[in-house]
Amino acid sequence: MLKQRTPLKRGNSQLKRTPFKRNGAPPSATVEKVCKPITLRDPSLFRLPRQIESACASIEISPRRENSALRDFARGQPCLLLVPGHCTGDKATTVGCHSNWSEHGKGKSRKADDHYMVWGCMGCHGWLDQGNARQNEKRAIFDDALVRQVAEYEKALKCTSLPKRFQQAVKWALEELASDRRLEDLEASAIGLGLLTPMHLPEGFKSPFQSRPPAA
Ligand SMILES: [Zn+2]
Ligand SMILES: [Zn+2]
Repeated sequence: MLKQRTPLKRGNSQLKRTPFKRNGAPPSATVEKVCKPITLRDPSLFRLPRQIESACASIEISPRRENSALRDFARGQPCLLLVPGHCTGDKATTVGCHSNWSEHGKGKSRKADDHYMVWGCMGCHGWLDQGNARQNEKRAIFDDALVRQVAEYEKALKCTSLPKRFQQAVKWALEELASDRRLEDLEASAIGLGLLTPMHLPEGFKSPFQSRPPAA
């Protein structure tokens, strides 16, 4: 049912302001609306819509970027989602938890690309995929976890005992993030949070530490 937003007040009636006079002239001359004919300055501008002739433009869908070694590497790792009240911290349940946002490749029946995946325990994974928290809350948690994930990848690369298969997978993830122009920001955030130090990063990386003047 429609509700009137500003209900009329009794004292505000128009009838009060222009009262009827019993024996006088009508309250106001009735204004007749005159319909002017529509004139077109340029009739050629007035056209009926035409059907678009060209065939439907095809939308190119890039193949999902995936890396099974990177998903295997996620198993048994510490949880990086760390959702308060949901994180069990049980490494045995950790898997790669994919982003649920389209800008990371997520589609209707398509998972996000594997480089938009973070290590997460079962409790956090359930919260991210099925929980009823708001999307912006989930997004903030995921974004923070992705910063931690990049820090973990960078540290893993420095680990000499890391199996070659995983080393290549981690390199792949960082390269994909770099080609999406996300890596630099993620690394800068990781450094800002103290999760990484410039020694973890390849030479040539401009860290906030390097631009600092030397201590006196
Ligand atoms: Zn967790
Ligand atoms: Zn998932």
